[in-house]
Amino acid sequence: MTLICHFIAGTETGEAERTGPVYNPATGEAHRTVAFASIAEVEQAIAAAKAAGPAWRETSLIKRADVFFRLRQILAERTPELAAIVTSEHGKVLSDAAGEVSRGIENVEFAAGLVHLLKGERAEQVSRGVDVHSVKQPVGVVACITPFNFPVMVPLWMVASAIACGNTVVLKPSEKDPSAAIWLAKAFQEAGLPDGVLNVVNGDKVAVDTLLDSPDVKAVSFVGSTPIAKSIYERASANGKRVQALGGAKNHMVVMPDADIDGAAAAAVSAAYGSAGERCMAVSVLVAVGEVADPLIASITEKVADLRIGDGTDAASEMGPLITREHRDRVESYVTGAAAEGATVLIDGTQRVAAGERLDGNGFFTGISLIDDVKPGMKLYEDEIFGPVLSVVRVDSYAEAVELINAHQFGNGVAIFTRDGGTARQFEFDIEVGMVGVNVPIPVPVGAFSFGGWKASLFGDSHIYGPESIHFYTRSKVVTTRWPDHTPAQVDLGFPSNH
Ligand code: NAD
Repeated sequence: MTLICHFIAGTETGEAERTGPVYNPATGEAHRTVAFASIAEVEQAIAAAKAAGPAWRETSLIKRADVFFRLRQILAERTPELAAIVTSEHGKVLSDAAGEVSRGIENVEFAAGLVHLLKGERAEQVSRGVDVHSVKQPVGVVACITPFNFPVMVPLWMVASAIACGNTVVLKPSEKDPSAAIWLAKAFQEAGLPDGVLNVVNGDKVAVDTLLDSPDVKAVSFVGSTPIAKSIYERASANGKRVQALGGAKNHMVVMPDADIDGAAAAAVSAAYGSAGERCMAVSVLVAVGEVADPLIASITEKVADLRIGDGTDAASEMGPLITREHRDRVESYVTGAAAEGATVLIDGTQRVAAGERLDGNGFFTGISLIDDVKPGMKLYEDEIFGPVLSVVRVDSYAEAVELINAHQFGNGVAIFTRDGGTARQFEFDIEVGMVGVNVPIPVPVGAFSFGGWKASLFGDSHIYGPESIHFYTRSKVVTTRWPDHTPAQVDLGFPSNH
């Protein structure tokens, strides 16, 4: 069985003292094994990153940018190969995996503009004969810790900008689908990135804690579930590092009575069940305002009737399995418990029926679920389920919809479907959520903007990728300059004033 190791200083390496299984979720077979890094191996990766730092920082910005242009080409040309790796360990359908790669390419394209991004500021004559300018300098070694659900895109959210800014990186991907990160590290190498600038360690809490506690790691980017995000934020910041830790989500989609019902239903189906609901920006709560619920549910029910669930490598499949058997069982527990909580199960995914066929076999499949009459206080409503379960909450007014969403612990993404520009503008003003879609169900910002939620969806104050990442991955230095101007020197013990 293939053993997936680490990638340190440009070489695949690793002992297999502790390992974990990597499943093909479509078959349920543990088809690969991943090595869990020891403390010594993580320290070796940190040392490799630290050693590579000075030369990478010396490298001209144009040469750094060249790496990203070449990487973009590699990713674009070999998307099918990378997508197949993602599908084999994550389970999402191939077209979705290719979509993930293309969104990751946006981050590489952004990083390729690093000469522009790293420009500082300058003010002339702040005092007589005195100028001031600022520069952005790398922070040093950056640790990037990523979740299972986007094994290509989320690493690229972080490592592209971190490396562009002159830092070196130790990436710790999810142990559930680790192969894509190794592929990416090799692609960076092929694109000309010097060895040691990007290192990958596979593993679990041992690896993560070693990164968080190392004095040589200066910044930590994390994406994953909220409890882990919070603990990473607390531990790394207590150790004096800058941290951005993005957590879980519960994304609402408000449908106003004036919305295009058919369009909203299609958007809800796509955003709730795409990638089997394992997207941090998946729609999981439909907020139906006024009389809209019944026609909306009717349209959704019609649209899901032919949904094809199956092995992600089958071009006919629109939705694949969940990541593990345990996660599948957890997702289904919300559906089986829904009626006892007072909700109405309209479509029961635990029956595992897709387009009229039963989903039997050993894969980690579940069917799609649609649940009506969901209310605050139910576990179904409060928890992040992270599966193909769409809840419908009925409210009477726009104000009630806003109040509901603003009271939720999460604030990652949200959408409103309406034909009224005034309502949409007011929603943007009122809503306490980091990313808002207007008739767009999954408002993941393009790479030239930054991504981040509010409340329990993000710990730290920087959003990820885009302009905010340049701020996060650099330290500002401000230089005040005066050149001799042949006027006689004077001693003055007063505090320098600029008048
Ligand atoms: P997770 O929190 O279980 O794991 C994320 C990373 O943390 C992995 O690398 C994992 O190995 C590591 N980890 C797990 N337990 C740890 C521990 N006790 N100590 C230290 N490290 C630990 O998340 P996941 O299940 O891989 O991913 C799904 C979650 O990620 C969902 O909650 C989803 O909403 C969230 N997510 C959020 C965003 C966002 O942008 N906000 C994006 C993608 C995923």
